Amino acid sequence: MTEATTYTRIDGRKIAAEIKQEIATKVASMKAEGKKLPHLAIILVGDDGASQTYVDHKVKACKEVGFHYTLLRFADTIQEDKLLKHIVQLNNDDDVDGLIVQLPLPAHISVEHVTDHIRADKDVDGFTNQNFGSIISRHPLLLPATPFGVMELLRRYNIETKGKHCVVVGASRIAGAPLSMMLAEQGRATVTICHKYTQDLASHTKQADILFVAVGKPGLITEDMVKEGAVVIDIGTTRVEGKQYKNGYAIKGDVDFEKVAPKCSYITPVPGGVGPMTIASLLLNTLRAAELRNK
Ligand code: NAP
Repeated sequence: MTEATTYTRIDGRKIAAEIKQEIATKVASMKAEGKKLPHLAIILVGDDGASQTYVDHKVKACKEVGFHYTLLRFADTIQEDKLLKHIVQLNNDDDVDGLIVQLPLPAHISVEHVTDHIRADKDVDGFTNQNFGSIISRHPLLLPATPFGVMELLRRYNIETKGKHCVVVGASRIAGAPLSMMLAEQGRATVTICHKYTQDLASHTKQADILFVAVGKPGLITEDMVKEGAVVIDIGTTRVEGKQYKNGYAIKGDVDFEKVAPKCSYITPVPGGVGPMTIASLLLNTLRAAELRNK
């Protein structure tokens, strides 16, 4: 039986809106001082509906905070070498501060090659090897956007990680792996990383003071897998089709929210938790990249 507690639902939309407001204020003063405004270049390949929606949100966010932006669209037939040339051009364009390539890419284009071509000081997604590695340098350049957003969410809710046992389920290059490193390095936490080959997942998740889940399997984390009073951060974002949903689909996290929430002290919903923070981090990184270039 779950002992019902009062939990705090972490509001990523509210925090992301606060961050955007702070950035917009900074951009307004840059403008008043006659400084160059931050400029984000976005590359979109193909016409995948979900990618288009993500890019629309990024463009909208740039407009909201007053950034300049450039959107380059290419057909999904574009050859890799041609795409890489465009990336090099944007790398060399002094007016561009941040550069992102929306994923996924068509199968004939290597994500690794594309990422490797983006200059680290313009890599506002934080995907390059240099930015990934700089997490443990104590002087990170541009932090991977999703884990950066998660850390910011914890910071703004005053959720202490120092000395806590953080369990991260999922170890991908864009979410779980960099988040684990950031929790250990910047968060000074004790970190357990779980992945597909972890045996008896529940025995690990039950020990978590703070549980992070980034797998992409709705319902993976059930109430029996969570300690009473734990903080639960759900990064999973899966589109589930179904006639019962208003638009024919719903966005689901990896955590069974309704059953798990009463056991938690804090928990993120999906949608409205970590998701909005990733775009906020992208904006923070673009501002930082612009400030570093202005220096
Ligand atoms: P991914 O590359 O597929 O990685 C999934 C990770 O989960 C891998 O490390 C995999 O292990 C692990 N895994 C798979 N099955 C597991 C299981 N049964 N138990 C424990 N671990 C398991 O996915 P991703 O790109 O990291 O994304 C994960 C989820 O987060 C997706 O739903 C994605 O949409 C979401 N996401 C959201 C945001 C956001 O802004 N909110 C950003 C990024 C990702 P192996 O390494 O052993 O294969």
